Amino acid sequence: MRTLITEAQLADGVSKLAGEIDRHYQGKPITVVAVLTGSVVLFADLIRRLSMPQRVGVIQASSYRGGTRPGELVIDAKMLIDVKDRDVLLVDDIFDTGATIAKLKEELETYGAASVATAVLLRKTRSDQHSVRPDFVAFEIPDEFVVGYGLDYLDMYRNLPYIAVLEPDEIAATAHEFG
Ligand code: 5GP
Ligand code: MG
Ligand code: MG
Repeated sequence: MRTLITEAQLADGVSKLAGEIDRHYQGKPITVVAVLTGSVVLFADLIRRLSMPQRVGVIQASSYRGGTRPGELVIDAKMLIDVKDRDVLLVDDIFDTGATIAKLKEELETYGAASVATAVLLRKTRSDQHSVRPDFVAFEIPDEFVVGYGLDYLDMYRNLPYIAVLEPDEIAATAHEFG
Protein backbone atom coordinates (compact mmCIF):
# COMPACT_ATOMS: atom_id res chain seq x y z
CA MET A 1 0.00 0.00 0.00
CA ARG A 2 1.34 3.41 -0.96
CA THR A 3 0.35 6.36 1.25
CA LEU A 4 -1.04 9.20 -0.86
CA ILE A 5 -2.32 11.57 1.86
CA THR A 6 -1.00 11.35 5.43
CA GLU A 7 -3.05 11.74 8.61
CA ALA A 8 -1.58 15.22 9.19
CA GLN A 9 -2.35 16.30 5.61
CA LEU A 10 -5.92 15.03 5.99
CA ALA A 11 -6.42 17.02 9.21
CA ASP A 12 -5.12 20.15 7.49
CA GLY A 13 -7.22 19.56 4.36
CA VAL A 14 -10.43 19.00 6.34
CA SER A 15 -9.84 22.18 8.38
CA LYS A 16 -9.41 24.17 5.16
CA LEU A 17 -12.53 22.55 3.70
CA ALA A 18 -14.51 23.54 6.81
CA GLY A 19 -13.16 27.10 6.57
CA GLU A 20 -14.32 27.38 2.96
CA ILE A 21 -17.79 26.03 3.82
CA ASP A 22 -18.06 28.40 6.81
CA ARG A 23 -17.19 31.37 4.61
CA HIS A 24 -19.81 30.30 2.07
CA TYR A 25 -22.72 29.93 4.52
CA GLN A 26 -21.80 32.88 6.81
CA GLY A 27 -23.41 31.35 9.91
CA LYS A 28 -26.63 30.34 8.13
CA PRO A 29 -28.08 27.06 9.53
CA ILE A 30 -27.64 24.02 7.26
CA THR A 31 -28.65 20.36 7.02
CA VAL A 32 -25.55 18.23 6.51
CA VAL A 33 -26.17 14.87 4.86
CA ALA A 34 -23.55 12.10 4.88
CA VAL A 35 -23.42 9.73 1.93
CA LEU A 36 -23.03 6.30 3.54
CA THR A 37 -20.80 4.53 4.02
CA GLY A 38 -17.64 6.07 2.59
CA SER A 39 -18.07 9.56 4.02
CA VAL A 40 -18.47 8.62 7.71
CA VAL A 41 -14.91 9.43 8.80
CA LEU A 42 -14.80 12.73 6.89
CA PHE A 43 -18.32 13.54 8.12
CA ALA A 44 -17.41 13.08 11.81
CA ASP A 45 -14.34 15.31 11.41
CA LEU A 46 -16.03 17.93 9.21
CA ILE A 47 -19.20 18.61 11.23
CA ARG A 48 -17.11 19.25 14.35
CA ARG A 49 -15.11 21.88 12.48
CA LEU A 50 -18.08 23.76 10.98
CA SER A 51 -19.35 26.70 13.03
CA MET A 52 -22.96 27.20 11.89
CA PRO A 53 -26.00 25.49 13.53
CA GLN A 54 -26.46 22.10 11.86
CA ARG A 55 -29.04 19.36 11.50
CA VAL A 56 -27.31 16.14 10.49
CA GLY A 57 -28.62 13.17 8.55
CA VAL A 58 -27.62 10.30 6.29
CA ILE A 59 -28.46 8.83 2.89
CA GLN A 60 -27.01 5.69 1.34
CA ALA A 61 -25.63 5.36 -2.18
CA SER A 62 -23.76 2.33 -3.38
CA SER A 63 -22.45 1.62 -6.81
CA TYR A 64 -19.44 -0.60 -6.35
CA ARG A 65 -21.06 -3.86 -5.30
CA GLY A 66 -17.74 -5.54 -4.55
CA GLY A 67 -15.60 -4.34 -7.45
CA THR A 68 -13.24 -1.44 -8.04
CA ARG A 69 -15.23 -0.14 -11.02
CA PRO A 70 -18.74 1.33 -10.67
CA GLY A 71 -21.79 -0.86 -11.15
CA GLU A 72 -25.45 0.09 -10.89
CA LEU A 73 -26.14 3.05 -8.58
CA VAL A 74 -28.59 2.26 -5.77
CA ILE A 75 -29.93 5.03 -3.48
CA ASP A 76 -31.58 4.30 -0.13
CA ALA A 77 -33.21 7.37 1.46
CA LYS A 78 -35.22 5.54 4.15
CA MET A 79 -33.10 7.02 6.94
CA LEU A 80 -32.95 10.55 5.50
CA ILE A 81 -34.28 13.37 7.71
CA ASP A 82 -36.71 15.95 6.30
CA VAL A 83 -34.90 18.29 3.91
CA LYS A 84 -37.87 20.31 2.63
CA ASP A 85 -36.98 24.04 2.39
CA ARG A 86 -33.57 23.36 3.98
CA ASP A 87 -30.14 24.36 2.73
CA VAL A 88 -28.46 20.99 2.33
CA LEU A 89 -24.75 20.20 2.28
CA LEU A 90 -24.16 16.74 0.87
CA VAL A 91 -20.88 15.15 2.05
CA ASP A 92 -19.25 12.31 0.11
CA ASP A 93 -15.85 10.65 0.17
CA ILE A 94 -14.83 10.95 -3.47
CA PHE A 95 -15.96 12.44 -6.77
CA ASP A 96 -14.96 10.08 -9.55
CA THR A 97 -17.28 10.18 -12.57
CA GLY A 98 -19.73 12.38 -10.64
CA ALA A 99 -22.69 10.06 -11.28
CA THR A 100 -23.34 9.57 -7.54
CA ILE A 101 -23.32 13.27 -6.68
CA ALA A 102 -25.45 14.15 -9.71
CA LYS A 103 -28.08 11.54 -8.83
CA LEU A 104 -28.16 12.42 -5.11
CA LYS A 105 -28.43 16.13 -5.83
CA GLU A 106 -31.42 15.47 -8.07
CA GLU A 107 -32.98 13.20 -5.42
CA LEU A 108 -32.62 15.84 -2.65
CA GLU A 109 -34.12 18.48 -4.94
CA THR A 110 -37.18 16.27 -5.48
CA TYR A 111 -37.60 16.20 -1.66
CA GLY A 112 -37.89 19.99 -1.78
CA ALA A 113 -34.47 21.10 -0.51
CA ALA A 114 -34.06 24.90 -0.84
CA SER A 115 -30.47 24.41 -2.03
CA VAL A 116 -28.04 21.50 -2.37
CA ALA A 117 -24.28 22.03 -2.21
CA THR A 118 -21.74 19.22 -2.23
CA ALA A 119 -18.47 18.69 -0.37
CA VAL A 120 -16.05 15.85 -1.08
CA LEU A 121 -12.72 14.84 0.40
CA LEU A 122 -11.23 13.74 -2.93
CA ARG A 123 -11.74 14.49 -6.59
CA LYS A 124 -10.11 12.31 -9.22
CA THR A 125 -8.72 14.08 -12.22
CA ARG A 126 -10.19 12.25 -15.20
CA SER A 127 -11.67 13.44 -18.45
CA ASP A 128 -15.07 11.71 -18.52
CA GLN A 129 -16.66 13.54 -15.59
CA HIS A 130 -20.30 14.50 -15.20
CA SER A 131 -21.21 18.13 -15.82
CA VAL A 132 -22.23 18.51 -12.14
CA ARG A 133 -19.19 19.66 -10.12
CA PRO A 134 -18.64 19.37 -6.37
CA ASP A 135 -18.78 22.81 -4.67
CA PHE A 136 -16.08 22.08 -2.08
CA VAL A 137 -13.09 19.75 -2.60
CA ALA A 138 -10.27 19.05 -0.11
CA PHE A 139 -7.82 17.15 -2.38
CA GLU A 140 -7.37 16.47 -6.11
CA ILE A 141 -5.89 13.00 -6.75
CA PRO A 142 -4.80 11.00 -9.82
CA ASP A 143 -7.07 8.28 -11.26
CA GLU A 144 -5.96 5.40 -9.02
CA PHE A 145 -7.98 3.20 -6.65
CA VAL A 146 -7.63 4.55 -3.11
CA VAL A 147 -8.70 3.31 0.32
CA GLY A 148 -8.68 4.58 3.92
CA TYR A 149 -10.32 7.41 5.91
CA GLY A 150 -13.73 5.88 5.11
CA LEU A 151 -13.00 4.58 1.60
CA ASP A 152 -13.17 0.82 1.20
CA TYR A 153 -12.44 -2.20 -0.89
CA LEU A 154 -14.96 -4.94 -0.03
CA ASP A 155 -15.76 -2.88 3.10
CA MET A 156 -12.17 -3.30 4.31
CA TYR A 157 -9.65 -0.48 4.98
CA ARG A 158 -12.23 2.19 5.98
CA ASN A 159 -10.51 2.44 9.38
CA LEU A 160 -7.07 3.47 8.04
CA PRO A 161 -6.29 7.01 9.29
CA TYR A 162 -4.60 7.91 5.96
CA ILE A 163 -5.42 7.61 2.21
CA ALA A 164 -3.46 4.94 0.34
CA VAL A 165 -3.36 3.56 -3.19
CA LEU A 166 -4.36 -0.12 -3.28
CA GLU A 167 -2.17 -1.77 -5.91
CA PRO A 168 -3.57 -4.44 -8.27
CA ASP A 169 -1.83 -7.31 -6.41
CA GLU A 170 -3.27 -6.06 -3.10
CA ILE A 171 -6.73 -5.82 -4.68
CA ALA A 172 -6.40 -9.46 -5.76
CA ALA A 173 -5.10 -10.57 -2.34
CA THR A 174 -7.93 -8.76 -0.52
CA ALA A 175 -10.55 -10.31 -2.80
CA HIS A 176 -9.01 -13.72 -2.16
CA GLU A 177 -8.97 -13.28 1.62
CA PHE A 178 -12.12 -11.23 2.32
CA GLY A 179 -14.27 -11.48 -0.82
P1 5GP B 1 -18.78 8.41 -8.97
O1 5GP B 1 -20.26 8.19 -8.92
O2 5GP B 1 -18.37 9.84 -8.76
O3 5GP B 1 -18.15 7.82 -10.19
O4 5GP B 1 -18.15 7.55 -7.82
C1 5GP B 1 -18.29 7.92 -6.54
C2 5GP B 1 -18.30 6.69 -5.64
O5 5GP B 1 -17.49 5.62 -6.15
C3 5GP B 1 -17.68 7.11 -4.34
O6 5GP B 1 -18.65 7.56 -3.43
C4 5GP B 1 -16.98 5.84 -3.89
O7 5GP B 1 -17.86 5.07 -3.12
C5 5GP B 1 -16.64 5.11 -5.16
N1 5GP B 1 -15.22 5.33 -5.59
C6 5GP B 1 -14.78 6.01 -6.67
N2 5GP B 1 -13.44 5.98 -6.75
C7 5GP B 1 -13.02 5.26 -5.69
C8 5GP B 1 -11.70 4.88 -5.21
O8 5GP B 1 -10.64 5.20 -5.75
N3 5GP B 1 -11.67 4.12 -4.08
C9 5GP B 1 -12.80 3.73 -3.41
N4 5GP B 1 -12.64 3.00 -2.32
N5 5GP B 1 -14.04 4.08 -3.83
C10 5GP B 1 -14.14 4.84 -4.96
MG1 MG C 1 -19.67 6.26 -2.13
MG1 MG D 1 -17.11 1.67 -1.63
